[in-house]
Amino acid sequence: MPDLLIQNIRPLGGAASDILLRDGRIAAIGPDQPVPPGGAVEHGAGALALPGLIEGHTHLDKTLWGGPWYRNAVGPTRLDRIENERAWRAAGTHDAGARSLALARDFLAHGTTRMRSHADIDTEIGLAHLRATLRTREALDAAMEMQIVAFPQSGLTNRPGTEALMDAALAEGADVVGGIDPCAIDRDPVRCLDATFALATRHGRPVDIHLHEPGEMGAFSLDLILERTAALGMQGRVVVSHGFCLGAIAERDRDALLARMARLQVAIATTAPASAPVPPLAVCRAAGVTVFGGNDGIRDTWTPYARPDMLDRAMHIGLRNALRRDDELEWALDCVTAAAAHGCGFVGYGLAPGNRGDLVLVDAATLAEAVVTAPPRRLVVAAGRVVAREGTLV
Ligand SMILES: [Zn+2]
Repeated sequence: MPDLLIQNIRPLGGAASDILLRDGRIAAIGPDQPVPPGGAVEHGAGALALPGLIEGHTHLDKTLWGGPWYRNAVGPTRLDRIENERAWRAAGTHDAGARSLALARDFLAHGTTRMRSHADIDTEIGLAHLRATLRTREALDAAMEMQIVAFPQSGLTNRPGTEALMDAALAEGADVVGGIDPCAIDRDPVRCLDATFALATRHGRPVDIHLHEPGEMGAFSLDLILERTAALGMQGRVVVSHGFCLGAIAERDRDALLARMARLQVAIATTAPASAPVPPLAVCRAAGVTVFGGNDGIRDTWTPYARPDMLDRAMHIGLRNALRRDDELEWALDCVTAAAAHGCGFVGYGLAPGNRGDLVLVDAATLAEAVVTAPPRRLVVAAGRVVAREGTLV
């Protein structure tokens, strides 16, 4: 792979600079870098340079991206959506491989070079969705770093056979142990979380639990999660996705939970939905809790919304948290860049020598403008190679 010199860009909105990429990594950053012999040159024309964007929570295996429009006539509850999805899957028309690849490619074209995707595991589809997601990861391996969460969408201990499938999924290449609503879905939270953390310790993997449970119920589940995180020494290896309860319970109780999360380095993945309470970003950050962003499902049987653009998701996080000041809008960008790398455990991240050679060029004066306008991606570089121009893969 030839060296790549990108001239006249503004890393994170700073002074004009050049970036030299070599062997897939950032070799140097600074003004007036010499053109390497035999190397390629890109002219940045003063563009704002961002690190590769990170999708911290999505479901590639569920998406209908690139397929015909899905007519959504689903009932109002979460269980309605789960049952509807299982019935739809049973019809056998869904190609999780083709659809997940189509969506992941569009993520890459929009500058996402790292991703955490959940893959459904249950007693009806078994490991089919995991294997489809693994094939998509393999297909994009040269450009995108992907973590796959084995996700028991329909529950763990309430559906006999699911634990064995989760075990098999982790042996077959899933990176993270997923979970969902231990009270509301499994209806036996201690048993469910003991089983979840047993899988994690047996395979030496981190944990990422969907926690939609409201108010006191969610706070109770979160308490059990933190208890196990501490007891098993899993500091820095547990993520709570959504954590709606943190946007609903009394401030004193919320702050006590956030203080424990900060001590145990338990991060929060948020999609900042308009339809549910959310952990308040400013309060979480002030408490020292890492918050990062994700779209959750995109164009699937659950939702017609969302798109594979992490700047657009950062805008939604800013909007949901009423962020207006430029320095606050940079928190929203942090959710889809450095905080996501920290929360998911992606190493070698960011615009600094030695890190993976991922960057995105956009026409924006400042980071805040990039969040609010989500401008077209002029250039996307992944692992030291140009992979997309003007929003289209090359
Ligand atoms: Zn999700």
